[in-house]
Amino acid sequence: MSPQIPKQKIEQTEGTLYVVATPIGNLGDITARALRTLREVKIIGCEDTRHTRKLLTHFDIHTPVTSYYREKEAHKAKFLLEKLLSGDDIAIVSDAGTPAISDPGHVLVRIAGEAGIKVVPIPGPSAITTALSIAGLEDTTFFFGGFPPSKPKQRRKYFKTISTLPCSVIFYESPHRISSCLKDCLTVFGDRHTFVFRELTKIHEERLSGPLSQLVDKVKENPRGEFVFILTGAKKSATDKPEDLDALLTWYHEQPDMTLKKAVSSIAADLDISRSMVYKKALMIWNQN
Ligand code: SAM
Repeated sequence: MSPQIPKQKIEQTEGTLYVVATPIGNLGDITARALRTLREVKIIGCEDTRHTRKLLTHFDIHTPVTSYYREKEAHKAKFLLEKLLSGDDIAIVSDAGTPAISDPGHVLVRIAGEAGIKVVPIPGPSAITTALSIAGLEDTTFFFGGFPPSKPKQRRKYFKTISTLPCSVIFYESPHRISSCLKDCLTVFGDRHTFVFRELTKIHEERLSGPLSQLVDKVKENPRGEFVFILTGAKKSATDKPEDLDALLTWYHEQPDMTLKKAVSSIAADLDISRSMVYKKALMIWNQN
């Protein structure tokens, strides 16, 4: 006997807004409830209609779609709100994963909620929870850092503001920035145990883990695919940072064309610690090799 999926609809004149998670790669990860919802609503608001049409075609769903991508989100949200107020049930989806998580969706969710519309989550995949589920961390308290700023200076500044959090930190990153981003993480967070996940749920799924100083060497410039990575939390407090100094200096020392002076300036500025302390340790590492 097939399981009964409880209907959440109650008597109301307005429509319901369904926030529907879709697969982050493997189409088999769509839920039965997501499929039923996408079939039954009047219209589906999509981040990119071409992308969502492929998903709908695969599952033989013929519901009309409309785009509500980021630049148009405020305007399109009003249009969709009017439809909800006139009684239409609407679903929103993003290209992959859960809408409104580093994706469009929050504007419609907010204004629909404010207008008294029922907002129903249809949960499913998200790269955050998928990554966390295979990290094997005993303590799964985490901070989700989204996409770090693309410019290195702002990125390091952002990292500094969260570098003392005692919980794991999860980031999304694009393939053309993953390598430089991990290097900046090493500079600011120190040599933390790290997990880098590529192409989760897809054919070329890959899981790397180890000290960040090792992973920066394994992740090439401009690799292919989608990335999410997790840095484990700071051990005690910001005063832990100097403990990571040896690993950091070793990594700097191995970089081509890196001078002792450049390494000291960069580390002292990024970690906000005294140059003389960094210099003393740097001298030992440079003299050893
Ligand atoms: N809303 C989505 C979610 O719930 O995960 C995230 C959307 S965000 C625009 C896209 C980013 O999520 C990608 O750049 C990548 O960092 C991460 N991501 C999405 N799918 C992934 C996958 N299959 N493997 C690894 N990372 C993924």
